[in-house]
Amino acid sequence: MGYPKEKNFVVFMPREKIVIGNWKMYKTAREAASYIEELIPLIEGCKTKVLLAVPFTTISTASKAAKGSPVLVGAQNMNDAREGAFTGEIAALMLKEAGADFVLLGHSERRHGFGETNDFVQRKVVRALQDDLIPVLCVGETADEREEGRTEEVLREQIEMGLEGVPKEESEKVILAYEPVWAIGTGKSATAKIAQEAHAFCRKVLGDVFGKKKAATVPILYGGSVKAENVNGLALEKDIDGVLVGGASLSVETLAKIVLNCKGK
Ligand code: PEP
Repeated sequence: MGYPKEKNFVVFMPREKIVIGNWKMYKTAREAASYIEELIPLIEGCKTKVLLAVPFTTISTASKAAKGSPVLVGAQNMNDAREGAFTGEIAALMLKEAGADFVLLGHSERRHGFGETNDFVQRKVVRALQDDLIPVLCVGETADEREEGRTEEVLREQIEMGLEGVPKEESEKVILAYEPVWAIGTGKSATAKIAQEAHAFCRKVLGDVFGKKKAATVPILYGGSVKAENVNGLALEKDIDGVLVGGASLSVETLAKIVLNCKGK
């Protein structure tokens, strides 16, 4: 079972559930192949879409292992330039040719660990779309920003700046991930209520950017200490279209449980 594609892009049905596993800097190509071979039968028949954001060196092997299955493979980062003298960087075209269909952009570990700005992330979003990769724009406030009552201000800025220059007609190629920094890798997930409030606000901002009708169909995923036990409570919320899973996605059995439990009403 493959994915419907429009030109070179995978097309997601409005509001279908999506689970993205972010492997971070874990797993070799060999480990990726056996993970995907194990995963495919575990999620057979499940309607939830499964995307794996894998290390660069793993993309080619992982996308071959996933071919013809409901699993899509993508990258965790890229440069904004099409090509050039940027030692150690990687371009969208290279990722696409290796077999990537999507790319995480502006993940909090990039923003806070590697100093990525909203401007830089925005240029990457535009480049990803130009070179046929689905951008997964990651946004989220820190614990201090939440305590200071600045969550909405931060989210609005990250979304508006991150999507600047994206034409309205391209809105269906964009995925947004709300990932509060205080919940990533801490074991302390946002409650379903807190996540829903933030998602509703993100959808409102998307409405200001793309128009209300288009904003209603942009998938907004929650990320931050998602586990098999808490995913269903999150997925039942009106504006939560799925989840982005870091640590828990490293175990194939756990990711499969998360995929099977990620169901709406
Ligand atoms: C992430 O890497 O985007 C993430 C949400 O990590 P974790 O699930 O480990 O909190």
